[in-house]
Amino acid sequence: MSEDCLFCRIANKEVETRFIYEDDTYVVFKDIHPSAPVHLLLIPRQHIRSINDLEPAHESLIGGLFPLAAKMAKEQGVDKSGYKLLFNVEKGGGQMVFHIHLHLLGGWDR
Ligand code: AMP
Ligand code: ZN
Repeated sequence: MSEDCLFCRIANKEVETRFIYEDDTYVVFKDIHPSAPVHLLLIPRQHIRSINDLEPAHESLIGGLFPLAAKMAKEQGVDKSGYKLLFNVEKGGGQMVFHIHLHLLGGWDR
């Protein structure tokens, strides 16, 4: 837990946010400024700053985000139409919240 981290505070329910999914390891919620009809953020509860900070011990934690993304995509009804998964890394990569998160974007009419 990092006191000044927005996503730690969301995961700890210190910032009111409706969870689409939660378990002991992960939390999923809607992006507040959606860039697509379906725009979810998937985060581990554990505070890791970015992809750059991954260590071998994080492998299963980060790996687990992908089957969770597939499950969320199915629940949101975008699995068949398709979706994008995205990590922004550091400022130049568009990262604004420095708690690792996977964007799930989909639901376009195409
Ligand atoms: P990134 O630019 O990859 O760091 O993505 C951070 C995302 O968090 C942005 O798409 C924001 O719209 C989103 N965001 C910021 N604050 C909140 C919040 N309180 N609840 C949900 N999403 C948020
Ligand atoms: Zn954090």
